Amino acid sequence: MKKPPKLTKAPLAPGIEVKTSLIDGKGCFATAPFKKGRKIAEYVGEKISRREIARRLKGRRRIHICGINSYWAIDGRDTGNGTQYINHSCQPNCFVRIMHEHIIFFAKRDIAPGEEILLDYEESYHTDKKLCQCGAPNCRGKINK
Ligand SMILES: [Zn+2]
Repeated sequence: MKKPPKLTKAPLAPGIEVKTSLIDGKGCFATAPFKKGRKIAEYVGEKISRREIARRLKGRRRIHICGINSYWAIDGRDTGNGTQYINHSCQPNCFVRIMHEHIIFFAKRDIAPGEEILLDYEESYHTDKKLCQCGAPNCRGKINK
């Protein structure tokens, strides 16, 4: 049998670190200030197709797959730069833009060093039943919008 290619972990993106999250598992934290509107980092990892996405979603509780479009996605689980640990919050401090098939995180407001970087996933590969535990006052109770 052919051995799968060895996956190489990307270096941590500048200005972030990974440590225990206040919300779930590991989280992504700012180590530098990010001004509102500034790019934080790109979501990097393995580019996978729809069929592979479906295969990987089976039985995984933690999902690190971020969609580019209806066909392609990036799986940052083993090869991400730290941004794969960005947790969902209903009161996020970052947002995502997809530009030429690159997934880029931007600061939604000024972010201070030490803050956990949080994104509203809106439409994720989680099921619509997956409950949210972000703790925000405006929490909608579910991860998907
Ligand atoms: Zn919530």
